[in-house]
Amino acid sequence: MAFSKNQFRNTLLLFYSAIFCLVLLLIITYLYRREKEYRTETLNDELSNITSIVDNFININSLYITNDYRQIDSLNKLLPHPNLRISVIDREGKVLYDSFIHDYENMDNHLDRPEIIQSSSEDFGTAIRKSGTTREEYYYYSRKFSRYYVRAALIYDVNVVNFLKANLRFLFIILLFFILIGIVLLFVTNRFGESVTRLKDFALSLRSDKPFISDFPKNELGIIGSEILGIYNNLLKAKNDLAIEKEKLSNHLNALNEGVAFFSKEKEINFSNDHFIKLMNMITGDLKIFPANFLELPEFGEITEFLNKNSEIVITDADLPKLEYQVSKDGRFFSVQCVIFHDKSFEVILNDITRISKNKIIKQQMTSNIAHELKTPVSSIKGYIETMLNDNEIEPKKQKYFLTRAMAQTDRLTELINDISILNRIEEAGASFLPEKVKINKIIKEVGENFKSAIREKKIRIESDLGDEVTVSGNKSLILSVFQNLVENSINYAGENTLIRIFVYNQDKRFYYFSFSDNGVGIPEEHMGRIFERFYRVDSGRSRKSGGTGLGLSIVKNAILLHKGEIIVRNKAGGGTEFLFSLPKHKK
Ligand code: ADP
Repeated sequence: MAFSKNQFRNTLLLFYSAIFCLVLLLIITYLYRREKEYRTETLNDELSNITSIVDNFININSLYITNDYRQIDSLNKLLPHPNLRISVIDREGKVLYDSFIHDYENMDNHLDRPEIIQSSSEDFGTAIRKSGTTREEYYYYSRKFSRYYVRAALIYDVNVVNFLKANLRFLFIILLFFILIGIVLLFVTNRFGESVTRLKDFALSLRSDKPFISDFPKNELGIIGSEILGIYNNLLKAKNDLAIEKEKLSNHLNALNEGVAFFSKEKEINFSNDHFIKLMNMITGDLKIFPANFLELPEFGEITEFLNKNSEIVITDADLPKLEYQVSKDGRFFSVQCVIFHDKSFEVILNDITRISKNKIIKQQMTSNIAHELKTPVSSIKGYIETMLNDNEIEPKKQKYFLTRAMAQTDRLTELINDISILNRIEEAGASFLPEKVKINKIIKEVGENFKSAIREKKIRIESDLGDEVTVSGNKSLILSVFQNLVENSINYAGENTLIRIFVYNQDKRFYYFSFSDNGVGIPEEHMGRIFERFYRVDSGRSRKSGGTGLGLSIVKNAILLHKGEIIVRNKAGGGTEFLFSLPKHKK
């Protein structure tokens, strides 16, 4: 952290120094140029005066007549410049006099000298160059007079070192100013540098999605940073909370058995769970349909109509418009619901109600079957009683006969009501009954006792070698019903001299697999598929004679299903019926 703090400060100082140097350079260049201009102007003034003096001297002494220009030497000595060079050049370029060169008569033609060329057309001409004689840099100034050019030259001494020397004080002040600003800058960067660095780290952590675990220093920038961090953390928390809630909601919606979809006001789908798509496909019978096309499907045309009808209505929270209808496809039933919310967004719920509808149909059939079955004994009882009431002189023998028949019908009624109530109990128990430990050999013994006289009468044998270890987990009275109904059927339908065999033919971790068989007449193949249905009876003389209710095997099957077991029936090769069924093991 300390490193990055210095890095920030160093960068800032580097920038500051670079800018300062640039500004300084600009100032010096500007000043140097000004100095040069000023120097040139002063030299021009001075040298212009000197040329005028020389011209006067020549004219006064009529040197152009005597041609004795050497007299200028005496003038030169009087002038206050030790290194002054004076030359007189005639209009053709011949040197008439030169204070530096003794035998100037031999000098080359000077018409090509830049200052001479310039002064031939303008007021005066200047040039800076090194003198071939003294090797020093001279400033030449030339003026044209009526008969000649007079040229004066002085050492040109404007150089940087001299200039800097002259401006040392000024530069010192500037340096001081720089240091002062530098110190202020250091103070400011020290004060805010760390905050800026932390802000930078914070910004970088945002981009890389890493949590930012650090504090901001206690200064103005730091406070701003802390505030931003606080707001950001709150925002992050809210975002995470929202994502969790969304996830929960979506899990919840996906766990539902219903298909749910939310649509925006513009009828665009915002969310749909997995079941929605599945149910949509089932309802339309088309597997290539997607939720986006939902409202275009004819099966859901009622929804579009309903939405259009409610598009202008103001909706209050308490009274949301709701549409519900049912559609059927391939023998299945579906309910379609649509609710419009007050912001005109809406939800659609699809539901597979086939099972509910089927159960409803079964219940209806059951009720009418029960009514039908009850009607027969009740009307016979009514018939016997009416006969006796209408006939005052009825013989006691006949009376007894009618009463016995009526009694038999009452027994049948009781039996019917018993069976119906067992079936009702199974239905109502659902998954909520409490299982207990049931020993099957004990159950078989109890059944044997219950049918003792019938068994003896029909010479029936029950063979079973189940040990005490065969215990199942379930409802004792229902399991008793299973074996009781099976034995009763064998007694009623198998015939005389039959052998009933009960044994465990297989077992696994969870179930015992029982075989219950007799060697009687068996069940005709065409009835096999239906004998577990309620009130279904094989219409044979034997069945009618036995006066069963047609509910026995239905009770057996439902009781086994309630225990999560299974049952099938088959006729044995050598004759007789065999029921194979499973019941859950009791876990010790
Ligand atoms: P029920 O009250 O008539 O006994 P069930 O549901 O118990 O009704 O039996 C349905 C029909 O199956 C009976 O009417 C009978 O014809 C036939 N059935 C059941 N068990 C046997 C069996 N062991 N041997 C022959 N037929 C049987």
